[in-house]
Amino acid sequence: MNVLSHHEFDNHQLVAFHSDEESGLKAIIAVHNSHLGPATGGCRMFNYAKEEDAVRDVLRLSRGMTYKSALAGLPLGGGKSVIIGDPKKDKTPALLHAMGEFIDTLGGRYIGAEDSGTSVADITMMGERTPYVSGINRQAKHGGDPSPVTAYGVFIGIRATLEHLGYSEVNGRSIAIQGVGNVGFNLCQLLRDAGAKVFVSDIHQVNLKRAFDIGAVVVSNDDILSMDVDVFAPCAMGAVINPYSIDKLRCQSIAGAANNQLATPEMGDQLHEMGIAYAPDYVINAGGIIEVYYQNQGILDADRVTQHVDTIGARLRDIFQRAQGNNMASQRIADAMAEETFSGRAKRHLAA
Ligand code: NAD
Repeated sequence: MNVLSHHEFDNHQLVAFHSDEESGLKAIIAVHNSHLGPATGGCRMFNYAKEEDAVRDVLRLSRGMTYKSALAGLPLGGGKSVIIGDPKKDKTPALLHAMGEFIDTLGGRYIGAEDSGTSVADITMMGERTPYVSGINRQAKHGGDPSPVTAYGVFIGIRATLEHLGYSEVNGRSIAIQGVGNVGFNLCQLLRDAGAKVFVSDIHQVNLKRAFDIGAVVVSNDDILSMDVDVFAPCAMGAVINPYSIDKLRCQSIAGAANNQLATPEMGDQLHEMGIAYAPDYVINAGGIIEVYYQNQGILDADRVTQHVDTIGARLRDIFQRAQGNNMASQRIADAMAEETFSGRAKRHLAA
């Protein structure tokens, strides 16, 4: 398998592979770009079928973090790590300690955080072997699950998206959420509180039940994609907008938490041609990394975090306007804005 010439490599600054025989750890850390600050991103644990799937995932996610932090106005670079293994079966204290030691070898070039397959408790355990983890509160000895803040950011983004469509209020609008897990459920709650009509789908009955209990309408996983709603909010997995699904869409806009929603950049162009407004995923789902940044700085001031997350609305309005003005797909506009920022030409936009 080629890494340097991998089609997702995109000039990564560092890709490190590690194995530890004793604990069984097999892991990869990718640092995409650290021009704006230390590469920061989640540590994902997943039972990848093939090693190359893990390489592809870590490269795509790490690059995404560069773009996300740049447009969120954070002095952070983009990085990600993956542990190859089943989080339900293979996770042991020894493995998590070994991962902490691996992260430590990079001396702060990469800062790890919670991701799918890892919990705040897992990151805390890695943190026993390295200071270069985030999203845990060392003083208070409790973790900071970023999902509620991510959901709040998505809610702010949905409001901006609706405004772009000409609706001044969330009240009375229709939103279809695919996946009511940590982020999706919190989002469902915010939208219900604001008076929206919410449709949900999930593969787990327990998660559906709690959404149903707060007034969401449950629909099948097949139907959620083709709902005739104001907003489709993907909050489950990536690549949900792909050549097989795109023709089924009946929504006016797409604004949700899932990472890498577009299977290819061309899907974004097609959405633009179809007149479906797309809130670029890494812009709208930046609440979590904003929360992690403040926690890592030891700033435990919820109002400051909220104020920062509120800027997602203005950022999206700007992107939608530029996309309209240039007759271009919104994610192409967002990419260009992020690239200008992390290439070093626009550092003045960063948070102090
Ligand atoms: P989660 O695992 O808690 O929730 C995902 C939900 O989607 C689960 O309820 C799961 O049962 C459901 N699901 C899985 N496959 C599905 C399918 N095919 N159809 C319908 N539902 C399905 O994860 P989360 O933390 O809520 O994150 C959701 C998405 O948002 C992920 O893509 C994640 O990468 C992204 N994200 C999360 C955060 C965060 O702070 N947690 C931050 C940025 C991005």
